[in-house]
Amino acid sequence: MYNRRKFIRATAFSLGAGLTAAQAASATATSNTNTDINGIESKPSGQPLKNTAAIISPVVISTWDAGLEANKAAWTILTNEGRALDAVERGVMVTEESLNCCVGLGANPDRDGIVTLDACIMDEAFNCGAVAFLERIKHPICVARRVMEKTPHVMLVGEGAQQFAQAEGFTLEPKVLSKTAQASYEEWLKRSNYRSPRINIENQKGHGPFAPAKLPNGEWNHDTIGMLALDMFGHLSGSCTTSGAGFKMRGRVGDSPIIGAGLYVDNEVGACVATGQGEDVIRVAGASMVVEAMRQGRSPEAACQALIERVIRIKKEKAKDIQVAFLALDNKGNTGAYAIHPGFSYALRSATEEKLIVAKSYFT
Ligand code: ASP
Repeated sequence: MYNRRKFIRATAFSLGAGLTAAQAASATATSNTNTDINGIESKPSGQPLKNTAAIISPVVISTWDAGLEANKAAWTILTNEGRALDAVERGVMVTEESLNCCVGLGANPDRDGIVTLDACIMDEAFNCGAVAFLERIKHPICVARRVMEKTPHVMLVGEGAQQFAQAEGFTLEPKVLSKTAQASYEEWLKRSNYRSPRINIENQKGHGPFAPAKLPNGEWNHDTIGMLALDMFGHLSGSCTTSGAGFKMRGRVGDSPIIGAGLYVDNEVGACVATGQGEDVIRVAGASMVVEAMRQGRSPEAACQALIERVIRIKKEKAKDIQVAFLALDNKGNTGAYAIHPGFSYALRSATEEKLIVAKSYFT
């Protein structure tokens, strides 16, 4: 067990010695490596990365208020010599199993009354995995990780993804809606006029699932959870999991399981995750472009702002009707976010802080 005193001492030592996350990453790059199908080296999964000379201060951030709880689970892993990859998987599992929100099987269904889930995960060495249009599986994020680690592919969808999950030992959950989702669906059926949902905007007016709000039982109702973490060894990873837009067309997949749109990680630079109207994140290859903006020297917040401004230029006056938010973490542990509209917040956990941060936005 890595105790707190040891962590603080080690952190002080490495930071005092001026070791950056990028240096720490290269310091550990020689031991214990795997090679992925593209010949890119990575650490073996599930194993702690031991190299005390390379310890830096870990950080985890995640979208919306629910991120506070999710970060706790990730933090336990990060402070016990764990991989960022394990932290981001475990962290979002908390939200997936909360069954009272818009992530996981408790979420709102599509317009045919069926919950379909999307998720993806990416590590520090460009290994990535995703599932989309997946039904009846409690932890899509874990299936995404299996796709990454056990197949030569990046993404499996629908029935194929479900078959793969079962073959990997995941249980098929009953095909029933949660109480909250059943009530929302019945309400939606009264109108049931399909049109593209205006995620985060319309929902704030009470039509759908995406506005973070406190439920009568005190739990947070929220949408997609995206999480980014930097571990003690300077490795970044990210995860993203969602039920997508409530009452969406059957088969609709948003940005959240799409590597480069909903999530991107490049250990040389940083990582980014998106939330909001998925179609408009996909159009600008959102998360990967935020990482590129950081590579050009922008801070995480400035990089997120640059992409939000691009979405606004493309959407013109229609930008008023959509919400998109980007959240980024660079390989030195700096964080930032930016949204089209006010109301987006993210949860941060580091050695010194545990808090919710309200992101700046284009419109006020
Ligand atoms: N981006 C997700 C999607 O479009 C939804 C969200 O983040 O609220 O499916």
